[in-house]
Amino acid sequence: MQSPYQLVAKGSYTLKNVRLETGFEYDNEEVIHTKTDLFSVEIENGKIKNISPNNPNSNAIDAKGKLMLPAFRDMHVHLDKTWYGLPWQTLSPKKKTVKDMIAYEQEIIPGLLKTSVERAGQLIDLLQGYGTNYARTHFNVDPTSGLQSLENLEKALDNKKDSFGAELVAFPQHGLYYTDSVPLLKEAVKLPQVGFIGGVDPLSIDGSIEKVLDVTVQLALDHHKGIDIHLHEVGESGMKTINYLIDKAVENPELQGKTFVSHAFALAHLSPKEAEEIAEKLAAAKVGIASSVPFSGKVMPIPTLKKYGVQVLIGNDNVQDYWSTFGSGNMLQKANLISELYGYRTEYQLSRALEFATQSIIPLNDKGEEQWPKTGDVADIVLVDASCSAEAVSRMSDVEALMNKGNLFWKE
Ligand SMILES: [Zn+2]
Repeated sequence: MQSPYQLVAKGSYTLKNVRLETGFEYDNEEVIHTKTDLFSVEIENGKIKNISPNNPNSNAIDAKGKLMLPAFRDMHVHLDKTWYGLPWQTLSPKKKTVKDMIAYEQEIIPGLLKTSVERAGQLIDLLQGYGTNYARTHFNVDPTSGLQSLENLEKALDNKKDSFGAELVAFPQHGLYYTDSVPLLKEAVKLPQVGFIGGVDPLSIDGSIEKVLDVTVQLALDHHKGIDIHLHEVGESGMKTINYLIDKAVENPELQGKTFVSHAFALAHLSPKEAEEIAEKLAAAKVGIASSVPFSGKVMPIPTLKKYGVQVLIGNDNVQDYWSTFGSGNMLQKANLISELYGYRTEYQLSRALEFATQSIIPLNDKGEEQWPKTGDVADIVLVDASCSAEAVSRMSDVEALMNKGNLFWKE
């Protein structure tokens, strides 16, 4: 796949006929409709300079009545290792455990790295086509990859720097001690472009929750980085790992707001009361959860986490690789999936669910007051073929244009 977009404007320019949400229409207490109007939106130096009543007769760029929304963000994806761009293949039924997958990665990574710059670029094109301009992407640090996975990922990101941004997680996929990855992680954490350090199933891969998390936490503190631990373990070891991280965040306030557990499948196995208790603790310690919203028999308690104010980030995780081939790359599809899974059906609920694609900001607040866009906001924007946020989530509407820091790209 090639980039579906063409650059049509950068620097200072104005868009006309931009559809923005202006409020809710109520029937008694119930939101029955979202009100919109057309505006002119001025962009300057990567930011929104001014929003004014529509001037349809100006010679501004015509947004043709498309709905303007904040650009989407994918907060858990592996741009560095993918089959995307290679001939179709699916998962081997023989490889079941994470350790099986580590052995398999050791076999195939040298081959994948030969073309990973190009294929990471193709995967970014796919994400952008669905309106994503930013990702939290993990990159392997393990004795097989060394730091080459990072180098290739950085080349791919540099090729897209006008249209796409990312935060990078150094991810010791093959364990810190199961394979000798501590020295590599220590090298990676020093790099300014690395924002987070990761980890995977400390007990089942490395045999110790404390040994792995103590090193990880210390490295994060020493280098002022965030943490994002991938935790597939369920039951006692899963919950112990989550609680251990919560305790560390309470002890070290610097970690709060930048410590995350990805997957956290253990939470899907809790009773409603237990889910409420851990949600309260996660929120108090400002430890977030990153989820691709899986539902194989068990469902993550996302509404409970949100109710207590836990930061919940959503991502595609594996778009097309040997871990999973189900990621669509489309963040509106994730918001749609969440809506269907948790029964968000009304105009109001669907409009709120857009936050799972934007990862926080949405045009109207819970009272229906305009909160986005505002003068001075970074111009990270999509123009969508929908009449309102609720329709965009429900219909997974097409994205017509993507703006990254004021650079406007339009589909051909
Ligand atoms: Zn992952």
